[in-house]
Amino acid sequence: MASLSLKNICKVYPNGFEAVKDFNLEIEDKEFIIFVGPSGCGKSTTLRMIAGLEEISSGELRIGDRLVNDVEPKDRDIAMVFQNYALYPHMTVYDNMAFGLKLRKVPKDEIDKMVKEAAKILDLEKLLDRKPKALSGGQRQRVAMGRAIVRNPKVFLMDEPLSNLDAKLRVQMRIEISKLHKNLGTTIIYVTHDQTEAMTLGTRIVVMKDGLVQQVDSPQNLYTKP
Ligand code: ADP
Ligand code: ADP
Repeated sequence: MASLSLKNICKVYPNGFEAVKDFNLEIEDKEFIIFVGPSGCGKSTTLRMIAGLEEISSGELRIGDRLVNDVEPKDRDIAMVFQNYALYPHMTVYDNMAFGLKLRKVPKDEIDKMVKEAAKILDLEKLLDRKPKALSGGQRQRVAMGRAIVRNPKVFLMDEPLSNLDAKLRVQMRIEISKLHKNLGTTIIYVTHDQTEAMTLGTRIVVMKDGLVQQVDSPQNLYTKP
């Protein structure tokens, strides 16, 4: 069964701008899909429609076999990691990671278990009482991922999650994301400008331009064949 299905998805912004035109893609369980293309080609808009943060103008979006066009973000079984981390500055690492679960009324002892498990996976166990401003960029990015992981979502969406990190940390985090993908066995959709990230992480690459899908292929075919 497809993990995610996008059928004739279009986005027209209120000002009349067509940001995404007839996007079609079937994503299988455990795929690592990369969106690439020039700035403004519609990558973020597509990701935000999948997350439910942006209304779908027309077309059908399915997660599993469920049509989710009108389903609220928190009920979509999806988690999103942004490039600017989007952490709550006044909350500790623990509370940042627990926030989404509290919102869903998960019992306290269960939240505790889930947060501590995610902290272990991401090597955040010693940082749970800190506030975001007392963390390095890489640690903040790990907290952002932790917040997504605790929800154990079917699909992860990542919008240039490493673009604010320095080169060394980027390489480290790339390896960690790859491990996460293998260990958690989730489906990931990942936006990047970085060809190395696309090649090393992706199982399939979607090339977009001017709101259109131009090509969908494996990294091998896309980057190594003439
Ligand atoms: P990308 O992520 O590929 O850089 P985006 O999806 O962010 O591209 O944007 C696609 C296009 O839609 C851009 O031309 C952008 O200016 C436009 N756009 C984004 N948000 C809005 C909006 N709220 N209203 C009008 N146009 C928008
Ligand atoms: P990015 O490309 O890094 O995702 P942008 O600077 O394109 O970020 O967009 C930041 C915010 O501004 C988004 O919420 C987007 O929807 C909005 N936005 C982008 N382009 C436009 C536009 N042309 N008109 C109105 N809102 C826009």
